[in-house]
Amino acid sequence: MVTITISGADKSGALARISAFFVRKGYPLKGQQLMESASGAKLVKISLDITQVDKARLAAEIKSLSPDFRIVSVEGAQSGSAPSIKEIAAQFPDVAPLVQAYGESLGADTRDEELAEAGKKIGAFQYEKEWSFGSPLKMPVALRRTLVPALEALGEVDATDTELTLPDSPFCGTGKIPCCEFLTGFMQGFLDAGPLTQNTRVQKTACRAKGDSRCAFKFSYDL
Ligand SMILES: [Zn+2]
Repeated sequence: MVTITISGADKSGALARISAFFVRKGYPLKGQQLMESASGAKLVKISLDITQVDKARLAAEIKSLSPDFRIVSVEGAQSGSAPSIKEIAAQFPDVAPLVQAYGESLGADTRDEELAEAGKKIGAFQYEKEWSFGSPLKMPVALRRTLVPALEALGEVDATDTELTLPDSPFCGTGKIPCCEFLTGFMQGFLDAGPLTQNTRVQKTACRAKGDSRCAFKFSYDL
């Protein structure tokens, strides 16, 4: 849990504006409170169910909401920086908490893109490391014999020749910032690294973070 204190909240509606900002940016808001400092200035305290936060980026985002708002303190954030892509890759398949911390350290506007980019790199790395031996496979055989087993290390996977679903993706926990785009990127990077699967496009079609019952991905390819 991270608690952020913001000053400059003297105008009425500041608490609602700041709370709405965090919700809009996809942060899991756990509490909000209007307080008074010793000098009588109004402060807003926001609690978020995250462990990492990019303070500089958040400070800029808050300021863009109103030049009066200023971050006074951030408490409870894990010390140290978010894990690097290299560190995440080294921990595969036990990557869910690291990906979560990495995702939380990113700004809301670019989070999905950056998670997908990280996933692509790690997917390509995994393919090269574990699945690139022997004759290259085409879709859909490559899906069944390489991508599905690679993903099964992360959790339960159901797949057909054109669709893959995860009933319980470790990157889409309830009440957390969704980091599911990591998986889209992972699959795309993995398939791009295979000589005969490079023409395959991966698209997310359902996500628990959007209220669906599972996360689902569609594969488009020419035979
Ligand atoms: Zn998802």
